[in-house]
Amino acid sequence: MSAQPHEIFNFTETSDACIKCGKCIPVCTIHNVNADEVTSPRGFIDLLGAYQRGQLELDFNAKEIFESCFLCTNCTDVCPKALATDMVIEQVRADIAQKFGIAWFKRAFFYLLRHRFTMDILFKMGYVFQTCGFKIKAEIDSMEPRFTLPIIKKDRLLPSMGKTSFLNSYPENISNGGKRRVAIFIGCLGNYNYTKIGDGLVEILEALNIDVFIPKKQLCCGAPAYFTGDFATVDHNAKKNIEYFESFIDEVEAIIIPEATCSAMIKIDYDHYFHDQPQWKQRANKLKSKIFMATEWLEQNTDLKAVLATKEKSSTAVTYHDPCHARKMQSVYKEPRSLIEQNYTIKEMSDPNVCCGFGGVTMQTEKFHFAQAAGRPKAAMIAKSGAAIVSAECSACRMQINNSLYEANVDVVFKNPIELIAQALKGK
Ligand code: SF4
Ligand code: SF4
Repeated sequence: MSAQPHEIFNFTETSDACIKCGKCIPVCTIHNVNADEVTSPRGFIDLLGAYQRGQLELDFNAKEIFESCFLCTNCTDVCPKALATDMVIEQVRADIAQKFGIAWFKRAFFYLLRHRFTMDILFKMGYVFQTCGFKIKAEIDSMEPRFTLPIIKKDRLLPSMGKTSFLNSYPENISNGGKRRVAIFIGCLGNYNYTKIGDGLVEILEALNIDVFIPKKQLCCGAPAYFTGDFATVDHNAKKNIEYFESFIDEVEAIIIPEATCSAMIKIDYDHYFHDQPQWKQRANKLKSKIFMATEWLEQNTDLKAVLATKEKSSTAVTYHDPCHARKMQSVYKEPRSLIEQNYTIKEMSDPNVCCGFGGVTMQTEKFHFAQAAGRPKAAMIAKSGAAIVSAECSACRMQINNSLYEANVDVVFKNPIELIAQALKGK
C-alpha cells in the first residue's frame, strides 16, 4: 500500500459495520450491469477495509474497481446500517488520483472549471467539451437546437452549445419591481449548453415579480472534480464560491439552482469535503439554509402553482425522472411534479428513481460501456411510459438520458421542469 487513505469515514470501521445482508446488491447500478461481488457496495466496502489494513494494494485493478461505482447512492438508501458507500468511494478516488495522476483531458477540463474567463473564450470557439474527451455524434436533445459540435470519437451525443452563455446573456440585476430578490446559480451545462433553463428561470421570476440577481463570478460547484478525486480543484472552487456567496447572501432570500448535482454539491458535499477544515465547513454550513433546487424553492415559497393553475392544460404527457442527487440526497421529488402537473399530464415511468447511469466524467469517458448498459433500462421505461417528454432537474441526467434514448431509437424529448413551467406560463 503506497498511499494512506484520505479519511472522512474510516474505511475499516465502515467495512466492520457492514453486516453483509446484501440488501444493497439488487439496487446497485454497477452490480446490475456488471454482476460481480467486487463491483457491489458490499464488495467495495470490503476492499476498502482491506486497503486500509494494508492487505490490498491500490493497484490498477483496484483503481478500475473503485472507478466503476456510479455514486448513485441507491445503496445508502436501503442499507440498514446507513453506510455511506458513495462517500468512501469519493475518498478513495483522491488516493487514486494522487497515485495514478489524472488523465490529461480531465485535467484540461478541470482547469477550465477553475477558470471561467478561459472557459468563456473557448466556449465561444465551440471547444469547451471537446477537451473532456466525450464522444460526440449529433444533437437531438432540444426542440430548438443551436449548433452542433463535430464528431470527436463515435456514437455519442453531446449537448449543443448556446451562442452566448447564460451568465453573459443577462445583466447582473434584473428588477421585476418586486419586494423579493433571489440569486441564480446556473451550473456549467446550464450556462454553456442548455441555456433555455436559465432563460426559463428568469421568465418565471419575472412573472412572479421577484427580482433576479445573477452572480457573475460564480464558479463551477466542483462536482465533476469531486467525483474524480481532483480535490485541489474542489478546494479552489468551493472556497471561491463560499467567499462569493457570503458577499451577497444577506441581500437575497435564496440561491436557487435548477440542477440537482450542483445543488447537492454545494448544500451537502461541501460539508463532507471540508471535514478536516472546520472553519470552511462552518462557513459552508452557514449558507445551507438559503440553497435550494429551483423547483423546490418556487413550489414552497411562491404562488407559482396557483399561477400555473390559471394557465392552459396541455394534452402533452410528461414522465419525470428522479435524479439521484435530487430525490435521494435532497428529498426533492414532489415539488417538480406538483408544478408540472398543473399544465401537463404526468405519466410515471415504472421506476423513476432508478439511476440514469451518468456516473461522472470517468464513467462518461473511460467506462462509457457501463454508462450505456445502465442507460438502456431507463430508455426502455421512458419509452414504455408513453410520454412525449421526459423531464428531470439535472443536466447530467439530460446528457445521459438523451444518449440512451438516441441509442434505443426512442423519440422522446428531454426538458428541464423549469423549461416546461416557463412554457406553460406563456399559455393563456
Ligand atoms: S446493505 Fe449495507 S450492511 Fe447490508 S451488505 Fe450492503 S453495505 Fe453491508
Ligand atoms: S453508489 Fe450506486 S453504483 Fe456505487 S455502490 Fe452504491 S448503488 Fe452501487
